[in-house]
Amino acid sequence: MGVAYSELVGLYQRLEGTSKRLEKTFYIADFLRKAVAEGNASDRELSRMLLLIQGRIFPPWDERKIGVAAKLVIKSIAHSTGISESRIEDLWREKGDLGTVASELVKKKVQATLLTLNLTLDKVFDNLLKLAALTGQGAVSRKVQMISELLTSASPGEAKYIVRTVLEELRVGVGEGSVRDALAWAFFPAVEGILWICGDCKARNPEGYDSCLSCSAPKEESAPAGRESSARILEVNSTDELLELERKRSLNKYDLLRSPSQESARAVYNFIIDAVQTAYDIKNDFGEVAVIAREKGLAGLRGVELVPGKPIKVMLAQKVSNVKEAFERVGRPAAVEYKYDGFRMQVHKKGQNIRIFTRRMEEVTEQFPEVVEFFRDYKDDFVLDGEAVGYDPKTGRFMPFQHISQRIKRKYKIEELSRELPVELNLFDIMFLDSGDGAPGSMLNRAFRERRKALEKLIREKKGSVVLAKQLVTDRDDEAEAFYKESLEKGNEGVMFKGLENPYKPGSRVGFMVKLKPTMESLDLVITAAEWGEGKRANWLTSFTLSCIDENGEYIEIGKVGTGIKELESQAEEGEVTFEQLTRLLKPLIIEQKGRKVTLKPEVIVEVKYEEIQRSPTYSSGFALRFPRVVRIRDDLNPEEASSITLVEELYRSQ
Ligand code: AMP
Repeated sequence: MGVAYSELVGLYQRLEGTSKRLEKTFYIADFLRKAVAEGNASDRELSRMLLLIQGRIFPPWDERKIGVAAKLVIKSIAHSTGISESRIEDLWREKGDLGTVASELVKKKVQATLLTLNLTLDKVFDNLLKLAALTGQGAVSRKVQMISELLTSASPGEAKYIVRTVLEELRVGVGEGSVRDALAWAFFPAVEGILWICGDCKARNPEGYDSCLSCSAPKEESAPAGRESSARILEVNSTDELLELERKRSLNKYDLLRSPSQESARAVYNFIIDAVQTAYDIKNDFGEVAVIAREKGLAGLRGVELVPGKPIKVMLAQKVSNVKEAFERVGRPAAVEYKYDGFRMQVHKKGQNIRIFTRRMEEVTEQFPEVVEFFRDYKDDFVLDGEAVGYDPKTGRFMPFQHISQRIKRKYKIEELSRELPVELNLFDIMFLDSGDGAPGSMLNRAFRERRKALEKLIREKKGSVVLAKQLVTDRDDEAEAFYKESLEKGNEGVMFKGLENPYKPGSRVGFMVKLKPTMESLDLVITAAEWGEGKRANWLTSFTLSCIDENGEYIEIGKVGTGIKELESQAEEGEVTFEQLTRLLKPLIIEQKGRKVTLKPEVIVEVKYEEIQRSPTYSSGFALRFPRVVRIRDDLNPEEASSITLVEELYRSQ
């Protein structure tokens, strides 16, 4: 029969009912435990479940989208409930959410017909996949048909989340961190001191809650491993012992792990979390990660290999404020490199197949034929990391990022643009190398020193095309300082410091490399709300609410901005931001409209400069920006990469 969609809806409702991250994690973990660990979901259902929990049907590395506009959903609701489109639009304006509207209309209909069918998770997922694949003639009516088919069989609760998923706006507030932790809680033993197992229902509850979040049974009666629980208590003193237990097949997800101190318990727990995260940073698909966790355990997760051709998350940098601090973080000696001001480029080669991705994992192979051409006659397979910088072909001078960003988006006359705006790729890392000599391909766990050596051996540099990032290995402050100056004089943003013995950690800001750049740092903020203008600006969104990101991955407001923005695109210089452009980008993202105010799906990031950060009760972050102005649109960043509240606090303190 398969997993029922209604079970997932139960989870969505619980998730929507709390804003606390620990509780959200608990609900996801408990759902997975019940539906999978003790039920019998297939691998396919398990992996689909994880995507749907995040409100998506494609993993982040996959560029496909469901791509259905609100208009079409309104048609489908009309089609399946018999209510007119204009009435639905009125209700939408009133409620602000099409999911809620669908739910209420379906409710009326169900009451009239007493008819509901059992929707399975697979059925919903299959229809969504078909929706995404439909193009060409007759696609619109086929899409309406696909959505209506689901809505006709749906209960009111189901209708709500089907509509929201179709619109790719689930709004249950689940961040990647919660999903990662939930996988660890559901598929691995609980660690005492961090989680406790409910004696009645076996749910794993976070410490700090004195009764079970699932069945309300009090904790005392459960201690230590759960009353009448089948859980065994295993003594684990170190992460090595944990791996050893798993190797001997004597680790069971129902066990409780006990460590001699809170510190070692934390280490064991973090080790499990890190295994899930590591696999995710390479696979970029919690669905796949869940299947590996269930079947192959910790060793399977830790052994996940990258495959050339599929993008991975790139390693990110932490910020430091001077040379001394940089050395403290990465150790001495360190590699100091120019920090080029361009955009991150990941180059994959497998056989004749060369593919290029941005740091958001978007494929841009077509857009950079000159880079593909460069690697054409290379024999080895590899994955490389670098920064592409645009330059003026006449003067050879670097061009600011704004100019070159048009190359990322260009879909026509690509050859012409590549001559006008060529890029030089500055390579600084290598994550995979297979020279066909049988040596293992992944370089992730090799020291940076070795990776750089491999890169130097591999690449035949060509100025103006592909070169290695300029590097100095030193243990001296004065030398690093001079190199930093030199880099700035050359027009770069600053320098990067990299620890020579460090591995490559996809995705995380673990401090294996740090960045040093001058001046007051600008913030990358997400536009989460806006207001329609007045008078001659009535057709534009003109005032923009800016948000940073909190520890739970939620967006919290930090200010409003309306300056630094020109009106018409035709009046603006290359790279300048305009109301016209912002309105065009933001209009499709409107999820709620009240009077002149609109709430937006958090997708557009802008770089914002300001005079000062102030404490302020006006905004939910507790901070406000003095004289904020928009510098540019950061379309190379994911919304999750917006500046964090931690950074804001740090900048506030350092003022
Ligand atoms: P930021 O975007 O300010 O966090 O700085 C980190 C970014 O600097 C990386 O994501 C790269 O796109 C870029 N970058 C430029 N030069 C280098 C380099 N030599 N090594 C690593 N990253 C670099």
